[in-house]
Amino acid sequence: MDHKIEANYLTVEKRLFLCNMAENMLNDWEKKSEEHNKKYKQLLHRTDKNRVLKVLPEFHEEAFEKIECLQCANCCKNYSPRFKTPDVKRISKHLKMRESIFIEKYLLVDEDGDFVANKKPCPFLGTDNYCSIYEERPSDCRRFPYTNEDVFIKRKELTLKNSTFCPITYFVLEKLLEKIPH
Ligand code: SF4
Ligand code: SF4
Repeated sequence: MDHKIEANYLTVEKRLFLCNMAENMLNDWEKKSEEHNKKYKQLLHRTDKNRVLKVLPEFHEEAFEKIECLQCANCCKNYSPRFKTPDVKRISKHLKMRESIFIEKYLLVDEDGDFVANKKPCPFLGTDNYCSIYEERPSDCRRFPYTNEDVFIKRKELTLKNSTFCPITYFVLEKLLEKIPH
């Protein structure tokens, strides 16, 4: 997900989510993430890329086992994916809408020339944090937060930004700090 929209808030829901996290590592994760930002930066810049890529799948899997996206949805609430042409075609077809109507109703063009959601939270996010177009969601949403891709290490600034609001990104970075000398 190429995040376009800035926002920052701590909801009651989010606080509950943090209380429910079992692992010590995840207690107060946002504060720790902020404190460790410099270390993450060093790790992403200095560590051998292949070494990181080798361990990412394991940490990615562990993060998704421990963290429940449905209790978070920070990405869907605060940022928009890009809606690329195949996404627009697929989703508008699924919604049985003409592409032009779909675009008019849900999207706008941002400063980079990409189609993004015209409001936040994302118009397809339900109050229960479920995505109403989950099976057809944009490819950016499927890939986010890139913790199992080379984008994680290639787009360092994006990963650092994601670590400020996505506990999965934070968790993977912490595991890397723990396991890989940097
Ligand atoms: S991907 Fe990250 S920010 Fe999005 S819902 Fe899951 S944990 Fe939250
Ligand atoms: S399309 Fe679905 S998964 Fe993607 S941001 Fe919107 S609600 Fe979240």
